[in-house]
This record gives sequence, C-alpha cells and structure tokens, in this order.
Amino acid sequence: MAFPSAPSAATAQLAEALSASRRITIVTHFNPDGDAIGSCLGLAFVLEAAGHSVQVVLPNAAPGFLKWMPGLDKAIIFDRQQDAGVSAIQEAELVFVLDLNRQDRVGAAQEALRAAPFKVLIDHHQDPEEFAHIVFSDTSACATCQMVFDIVSALGLAHLIDRDAATCLYTGIVTDSGSFRFRSTSPHTMCVAAELMEKGVPIDQVHGAIMDDNSVERLRLLGHMLTQRMTVLPAERTTVLALSKEDLQRYTHGPGETEGFVNYGLSIRGTRLSAFFVERPDQVKLSLRSKGELPVDRFTRDHFNGGGHRNAAGGQSELGLQATIDRFMDLLPAFLAAHPE
Ligand code: 5GP
Ligand code: MN
Repeated sequence: MAFPSAPSAATAQLAEALSASRRITIVTHFNPDGDAIGSCLGLAFVLEAAGHSVQVVLPNAAPGFLKWMPGLDKAIIFDRQQDAGVSAIQEAELVFVLDLNRQDRVGAAQEALRAAPFKVLIDHHQDPEEFAHIVFSDTSACATCQMVFDIVSALGLAHLIDRDAATCLYTGIVTDSGSFRFRSTSPHTMCVAAELMEKGVPIDQVHGAIMDDNSVERLRLLGHMLTQRMTVLPAERTTVLALSKEDLQRYTHGPGETEGFVNYGLSIRGTRLSAFFVERPDQVKLSLRSKGELPVDRFTRDHFNGGGHRNAAGGQSELGLQATIDRFMDLLPAFLAAHPE
C-alpha cells in the first residue's frame, strides 16, 4: 500500500539535513514509555540503515515490561552514564528530540540538550515549546511512532524499516493508543500498523509482552490499591487512586510497576475522570485520565506543573501525598463545572 507522503517544508529541511552521512543522537523524555522508546529505537534503526551514525540516549531506564525491545541494549541510560550521554548529545551534528514538548522533560540531560546546535522535534503533545530547528508537531497523531513512520515514508526511506524497526514503531503505537482503542486511533493508524505488520512484526509477542507480563508483586499492589486506596465520587463521576511510599515498599515494587494503574479508575462504569497519585522519593507524581471533552492536560499544566494530552496527562507536586490529594479535591469542582458534558 502506498502512503501519501505529504511533502512539507519540514520534510524538505530534514531531507536536506540528512543528505550527507551525519552523527546523530536521539533523545526522549524522562520515564520513557513505549512510544518514547519505540520511536527512538525505530528511528535509530532506519537512520543507521541509511548510513548515519546513531546513538539513542534515554534519560533513565526502560520499565521492565519494555526491556525486550530490539536495540535497547545499545542505548545510553543518562542517569547511569552521564558523561557518555553528555558527549553523545554534544558531539552530534543533529539531535532528534522525540515524544516531548518541553526540553525540561529530558530531566538531567536538559543542559546538554539546550546547548545542542541543531535539533529536530517529532512530537504529538499539545503546545510544543519553540526550541527545535525543524519541527514536526501533530497533536492528532496517536503516537510519535506513527509520525516517525510517516516522516520516514515521506523521506523515501520506508524500505529501510526492517522487522526490528517495525517492531519498535508498532510497540509505541500499541502503548500510546491503548491497543488501538483510544479516540486518537485513526484509520491511518490502522494502515500504519498494517504496513508494520507486513514488515514482520510478531504482533502476538508484542501484545503479550505489553499486556501479559505482570509480576506477582504488581498484581498484589494493584489489588491493594483497588481495595484499600480507591475513592469513588459518584456525583463527580471521578475516581481517586493513591499509593504511598509504604504501600510501594510493602509490595516491593520495581520501576514502572504502577504504569497503567490510573486506567482502572476510568474503567468504572460512568466515570469521566480518574486521578492516580503516587508518592515518589522526592515528590508526588500524578496521572490523570479522562473521557470525552474533559481536558486534563490543561488542568495539570495550570495546577500541577505538568501537561500531556486532552485525555491523558501527568504532573507533579512537592506538597506531600495527602496535601496533593487535598489540593486536587479543592480544584476539582471548578474544573468539572467549567467542562460540563
Ligand atoms: P502518565 O500519566 O502516563 O505519566 O502520562 C500521561 C501523558 O502525560 C503522557 O503523554 C506524558 O507525556 C504526559 N505527562 C506526564 N507527566 C508529565 C509532566 O510532568 N509534564 C508534562 N508536560 N507532561 C507529562
Ligand atoms: Mn507518545
């Protein structure tokens, strides 16, 4: 199947930038998810096959359920290999910045990133900060991986997407689209997935690795949260979920073990909004999910130093767990009133 490769100014600029063999570094956001890692690794495979020299830098390690991803072993993990990470960013002629809208989202790598002389942004979050020389921003795309596929196709490089690259890109589309069920999933998403499948993606293995890879501790922690730490507010059609440091310790959780917990709140019949609060060593991280027109990205941006998408956003707070929840509860009525159904 041929894709209409919309020739855009950004595509032409990028084609020009890639016309000679380049030293390229690819970075993404802190706590990288499937789309972040998949887009970096997928693009890296393609650019390497096109004759460039490519290094992926992840701000911190991949969560356990993504450790199998092809090419991950060659990525620099910035918080463990800071010098190598800074060198990779400083020495690159071109830095690709994927799946983030603000440079501070890369965490400790941001100083090096800010100093990078030539940046290419590929992202699907709202309101990207202006920092890149070439910008691909499409808030309607369900995943950065889908954008990478389209850009690679527009550059005439789709034939370089091999099975590993396709597996990485497919993984990001699956994780960011909620396995093709969020509203961001478009007919085009399905076409891209089909193209990737043609390249040999083992879809049963990918879905199995993502969905059916719970540790016993994670399931027990989930059970504890649903029975002991879930507050349902029927009038507000809102669910509040919270886990303290002690909860996490009790179930010896590993990094990434609470990924997706917020979705259980939204799965309750009639719920419009689910909020999940988790106490991290230095701050409280909050994740919001909504249905319909309720813009949780605006809410986290305005009140919790965060951002994201209309129906999936995150933020943080220095207030402590209970105080953060209290603040959320105080802000909730006005937010809901401003966005009636
Ligand atoms: P999650 O709740 O899974 O951590 O994140 C949901 C969405 O919100 C993701 O698209 C993520 O990129 C975005 N997000 C999460 N935390 C933050 C944050 O602190 N700042 C910004 N700008 N976006 C965030
Ligand atoms: Mn994404």
